[in-house]
Amino acid sequence: MTVIHNLGFPRIGAKRELKFAQEAYWKGETTAAELQDVAKALRDRHWQNQAGFDFVPVGDFTLYDHVLDMSVTLGNLPKRAYEGGGDELDAFFRTARGRSPLDKGAGVAAGEMTKWFNSNYHYIVPEFDANTSFKLNPQRLLEQIKEAQALGVKSVKPVIIGPVTYLWLGKSKDDSDRLALLERLLPVYKQLLNELAQAGAEWVQIDEPCLVTTLDKDWRQAVKTAYHELNRTTPKILLTTYFSDFGDNLNLLHDLPVDGIHLDTINAAGEIHKLIDLLPATKVISLGVVDGRNIWKTDLNRLLDTLEPIRARLGDRLWLAPSSSLLHVPVDLDQEDSLDPEIKNWLAYALQKLEELRVLKKALDSGRDSVKAELDANAAALKARRESTRVHNPAVKARTAAVTKEMGDRKSPYAARAPKQHAAIKQPLFPTTTIGSFPQTAEIRKSRSDYKKGAISEAQYIADMQADIRECVKIQEELDIDVLVHGEAERNDMVEYFGEQLDGYVFTRFAWVQSYGSRCVKPPVIFGDISRPKAMTVKWSEYAQSLTQRPMKAMLTGPVTILNWSFVRDDQPRADTCLQIALAIRDEVLDLEKAGLGVIQIDEPALREGLPLKKEQWQAYLDWTVHAFRVCANGVEDQTQIHTHMCYSEFNDIMQAIADLDADVITIETSRSDMELLKAFDDFNYPNEIGPGVYDIHSPNVPSVESMVDLMEKALKQIPKERLWVNPDCGLKTRAWPETKAALANMVEAAKILRKKYA
Ligand code: GLN
Ligand code: ZN
Repeated sequence: MTVIHNLGFPRIGAKRELKFAQEAYWKGETTAAELQDVAKALRDRHWQNQAGFDFVPVGDFTLYDHVLDMSVTLGNLPKRAYEGGGDELDAFFRTARGRSPLDKGAGVAAGEMTKWFNSNYHYIVPEFDANTSFKLNPQRLLEQIKEAQALGVKSVKPVIIGPVTYLWLGKSKDDSDRLALLERLLPVYKQLLNELAQAGAEWVQIDEPCLVTTLDKDWRQAVKTAYHELNRTTPKILLTTYFSDFGDNLNLLHDLPVDGIHLDTINAAGEIHKLIDLLPATKVISLGVVDGRNIWKTDLNRLLDTLEPIRARLGDRLWLAPSSSLLHVPVDLDQEDSLDPEIKNWLAYALQKLEELRVLKKALDSGRDSVKAELDANAAALKARRESTRVHNPAVKARTAAVTKEMGDRKSPYAARAPKQHAAIKQPLFPTTTIGSFPQTAEIRKSRSDYKKGAISEAQYIADMQADIRECVKIQEELDIDVLVHGEAERNDMVEYFGEQLDGYVFTRFAWVQSYGSRCVKPPVIFGDISRPKAMTVKWSEYAQSLTQRPMKAMLTGPVTILNWSFVRDDQPRADTCLQIALAIRDEVLDLEKAGLGVIQIDEPALREGLPLKKEQWQAYLDWTVHAFRVCANGVEDQTQIHTHMCYSEFNDIMQAIADLDADVITIETSRSDMELLKAFDDFNYPNEIGPGVYDIHSPNVPSVESMVDLMEKALKQIPKERLWVNPDCGLKTRAWPETKAALANMVEAAKILRKKYA
C-alpha cells in the first residue's frame, strides 16, 4: 500500500474564519473560550477534509504562528511576556503582538518577526541567551491529539519543529552561541517524543528545513548529535525538509538514525534517486510530489511515469505528500465562483491537492485504470493549458527572445549623466523627497471601492483621485519638498495595481494565504505571457506634474517585486516571466519620459527576499534579476533620473548587485537600524546617489530635526554630500496626515540645516 500523508493544512480557514476570530478576540469583543471554539471547529473540519489519508498532521494548527507554538512547547517564551499577568494565551499573544487583550497600557515589546525561509510567511523569532533553559509544556499537542482521535482520525502524526532548526531560526540576545543550548534542548525533545508516543502517535514528523540551507561544520554536527540522541525514544521519526534540495547536507543522511526522510521533489527532483540509493532498505522515503507553494494542477500522468518504477522498487516504503505544508496555498478552489472557468480548470488549491494525492495512491495501488476518469480529466486540463492561446503570446515571446544585454545599459555612465539631471531638475544639495504613497484616507478608499463596485462613474473616480493629487501637491509645496510625488491614491496595492492592467494576469476572490498572524495576502496569478495593453500610470503622473513647477517623480513597481509577490507560472523559468514583466514596465517608463516626467522611481522592495536558500545559488538569481531591472529602467535619456527603493533592511551582502542596477538614486530603509546599513559602505564605495531613510514610517512617532540631522551626519562619514538625499524609510500610506506633515516638516528643516552647514 502506498502511504499518503499531509505535512500541514492551511489554518486560516476557507473563509478566513481564524483571522476574524483572532481580531475580534484582540479587540475584546469575544472571550478566549469563543476563540478556542472557532479554532477547534477549524481543526475538526480540516481533519475531515483529510479523510482517506494514512497519516494526518496534528499540531500544524496555531492561533498565531507555529514557531511561536514551538517556543511555548519548549517553555521558551521571553520573560517579559508574563509581565502583566494573565495565562499562557496572554503570554503567547504578548510575544506575538506586544500585547494581550488584558493589557490596557503599553504592553511589552513584541517578538521579532521574520520570513520563513524563502516564503512570504513570517514567524516569530525564538529568543535565546546564555542562560536560556527549556521546560516541556506538551499540553497543546496532547490535547489536539485527543481531539483528533475523538473525531476518529485513524493515524495522527504530530508535527514539530526539530531541535536544530529551532535553534537555527532563533536569535541570541547576548551574542552567546545558540548551538551551546542543544545539550539543554535535547532532553526536553526526548521527553516530548515519549509523551507523543504514549498519546498514540506511531510517527512524529520532525521538520528540519534548515537542512536545505548551507550549514557549517558545527551545525552539521548538531544534526548528528541531535538524532543520535532522539533515536533512543519510541515514536518513529520522519525527518522532513522542504523548499530546496539537501545539496552538501545529503551525505549527513545515510547513517542518520531516523526512520524516514521527506524530500521536496518540486524543488529537489534531482535528489530523488540519490536519496533512494543512499538510504538503507528499512527506511521510509516520503516524496513531496504535489506543489505546496503554488496553485497549479499537478500533471498526474507524467508524475505516475516517474512514480511507478519507484513504487516497484520501494514497495510500502514509498510515502507521498505535498512538497511542503499546504500553509502556503489557499484552501478551496470550489469557492471561486467568478473566476474565468478556463483558467480555473488549470488550478488546484489545498483541498484539490489532497484529492490529487488520493488519486495517485489509487493509481499506484490498483492501477491507472482504477482512476481512469480522474486521470483523463487531469490530462485534458493540462493539455488545454499547454495549448491555450491565452497563455502563449508569440509577440511577447519574440520580444523577450530579442532582448540584448545592451538594452540594460544607460547611454552614458552615471558621472556623465548626473550633471545633466541635476541641471534639469535644479537639484539642491541634500534634496528632499518621499517614497511615493501618502496617507490613504477613508475618502480615497471609499472612492476606489465604489468605483470597483460600479457605484460611481469613471469621471467621478478620476475627479476624486485628482482632488487628492492636488491636495498632496499643495501640501508638499507648502512643506518645501524638492522632488514631489502624486501620492498613489489610486493604488490599493503596489503589485495588484499593475497586475490588473497587464495581460497574462488573473485575479481570484479566495486565494488567501497567511502572511503572519491574522494578516493574509491574496497574490494575483500570472498564468500567461505578460504584456501591457496600454499605459498604466501616465495620466496620474502627467496630471500631477501639470500642477507644479517642481519636479514630479513618477512611481512604478519593479519587475522582480511584481514577480515575487505573485503566484507564478510553473511552465517556464521565473527569469523568463520576470523579463516579460520588465519589458511591460519598460514601455511604461518610456511613456512617462515622453510625457515629461524627468524623475521615475521603480520600487524593488522584494528583490532581496527572492534570494535562493543556498548562498552558492545567489549569484545566478542576482544575475537575472539585475538584468530584468536594467532592461526595465535603463532605456531612458541621460537627463532622466531613475530612482529605486528598497526596504526591509539587510542589504549589506548584496551591495554589488544593488550598485549594478545602476539607478541614479536609491532610497533605502535604514532608520530602524540606526544607519547600520551604512557599514556596508566602509568597504563598498556605492557609486551613485543614495537616500538613507531618516524617518521610520512604521511608527507614528514624529522624529526630531536633530535626530535626522544626526542620522545624515552618520551617512556623511561614508558618502559624499553631493550624493546624499534626505527622505523617509518607505511609503507613508499607513500613516495619518497630522504626524506625516509634522515629520516631513522636520525632515525638510533638517535638510536646510545640512545645506547651510555643508554648502
Ligand atoms: N512606492 C511605494 C509606497 O510608497 C513603496 C512601497 C514599499 O516599498 N513597500 O508605498
Ligand atoms: Zn519601502
